[in-house]
Amino acid sequence: MSCIFCRIINKEIPANQIYEDDLVLAFHDINPQAPYHILVIPKKHISTLLELTEEDKVLIGHIYGVINKIAKELGFAERGYRVVVNCKEEAGQTVFHVHFHVLAGRPMEWPPG
Ligand code: 5GP
Repeated sequence: MSCIFCRIINKEIPANQIYEDDLVLAFHDINPQAPYHILVIPKKHISTLLELTEEDKVLIGHIYGVINKIAKELGFAERGYRVVVNCKEEAGQTVFHVHFHVLAGRPMEWPPG
């Protein structure tokens, strides 16, 4: 299997895991861009946001619930956080398995680069 995030889900390669359930996995980004930089990914392989279907609606809602749970547990809910999903190359997507970047712990700038 070539998808690196599927390999993390299958425990073929290690990750600094924070949360797991039947639908999603959350772990620390290997190259953090903020004091907290967490990736939340669906266990189902979906290449980009463009491949989402009607049946993924519940999954996407669930992911935002998991993000809030992590924010409260790790202690950055009060100050806030940013969620980023890059869709395809021009947006900066490098791993083609949908992932939600959760960034927190420092003031964020706008517009993003
Ligand atoms: P993208 O650029 O596709 O939006 O984000 C991919 C993210 O995955 C990057 O922030 C990158 O640091 C992270 N990443 C890539 N490979 C690995 C890995 O093997 N382990 C972890 N924990 N993060 C990874």
